[in-house]
Amino acid sequence: MATIQELKCVICGKSYQPPEVMYTCPVCGEAGTLDVLYDYDALKNTVDRDEISRSQLTSVWRYKSLIPVAPDAAIPPLTVGWTPTYETPRLAERLGVRKAWVKDEGRNPTGSLKDRASVLVITRAMEQGIQIVSTASTGNAAAALAGIAASVPDMKTIIFVPATAPEAKIAQLLVYGASVILVEASYDVAFDLCMEICIEQGWYCRNTGVNPFTTEGKKTVSLEIAEQLHWHVPDVVVVSVGDGSIISGVYKGFYDMLQLGWIQRIPRIIGVQSSGSMALVHAWENHIAGQDMTPMPAETLADSISAGLPRDRVKALRAVRETDGAYVAVDDSAIIAAIPEVARLTGVFAEPAAAAAFAGAQTALQSGRIRHDDSVLLLLTGNGLKDVRRAQQAVSGGIRVQPNLSSVRNALTRLELL
Ligand SMILES: *Cc1c(COP(=O)(O)O)cnc(C)c1O
Ligand SMILES: [Zn+2]
Repeated sequence: MATIQELKCVICGKSYQPPEVMYTCPVCGEAGTLDVLYDYDALKNTVDRDEISRSQLTSVWRYKSLIPVAPDAAIPPLTVGWTPTYETPRLAERLGVRKAWVKDEGRNPTGSLKDRASVLVITRAMEQGIQIVSTASTGNAAAALAGIAASVPDMKTIIFVPATAPEAKIAQLLVYGASVILVEASYDVAFDLCMEICIEQGWYCRNTGVNPFTTEGKKTVSLEIAEQLHWHVPDVVVVSVGDGSIISGVYKGFYDMLQLGWIQRIPRIIGVQSSGSMALVHAWENHIAGQDMTPMPAETLADSISAGLPRDRVKALRAVRETDGAYVAVDDSAIIAAIPEVARLTGVFAEPAAAAAFAGAQTALQSGRIRHDDSVLLLLTGNGLKDVRRAQQAVSGGIRVQPNLSSVRNALTRLELL
């Protein structure tokens, strides 16, 4: 078990003890998200990387010693994490890099990396005897919360979504038994309403970024990357970015391991946004601090990375600035085209926001942010089955035949298969 030493504001640096604040820094407000920090010297003496490598647990809980939950804490039964990292020579060749891997986060129980945050939030809620957990989201974060809550007894989820959210996504929440509040306004308004009612009612709020433990859950993806690559981290990790919480978690996992001496350096982290929703690209290119960012338009087919004012913007910029990484923007057409491209080169079907990592890697290669002698890991954050409709836009084919062999032969000839 990792005992929290302090919760530290990413803007003003003020340090808090866990009971003092639950969400963001009271001085800096909503942008002042908190880092969960440990006594790394003490941890060095109690946690052993090789012992972890001998663990039989094939989930995020193999890293329990680096996660802030009690050793005897009840944990949800769904298996989150320990997703495969595949070395992908054909993808490396297509990109033109020395080595490439993909990490298939679509293998998580509700189909995205968001499960890593939700499983920790639900565990902490159980520890504290809280029985209602809430979040505002239109997509994967809400599904993750609802799904993992459904796997434990007596845990209710209340999800705030904009009334315009796609019906299929709302259906997924209802299937898991969540109570769904359809707010007649934008995601941002739903987010703030959710936060306020949580504080008023004493519900636990999972809102992205605002709840510091979302980062701690998501950091497990980097712990896995390092362990699965035998503690030799890639030169570059590429990840798609909306609210900026995943990229912050990716950074935090590497940061923790660096403090413990488990790795020698943090990979360069490259964040990929859609050119229709590129607030962080804009801030990074123009040297704007996270707390000074103002809302930008957010219009993209990759709904999981649509964010006008990313909630975890301060940490998200730090992840790139501290690692000599970059933010890149890609057009929606490139994102859609990347779906079959990634699938055909790796066998992994990624949702649009996840496939964006491939398009972003291509862009970063063109601009020299990734070099040909680099080794590169693409984080595929969510499952393609989440959004088959978008994938259909990228592919065509299928050939109709009469039910006889000559017709089949004709068709195969036209397909140049005979
Ligand atoms: C949420 C999500 C992202 C972006 O994560 P942020 O923390 O919002 O930056 C990317 N891909 C998928 C599949 C997601 O669900
Ligand atoms: Zn502060």
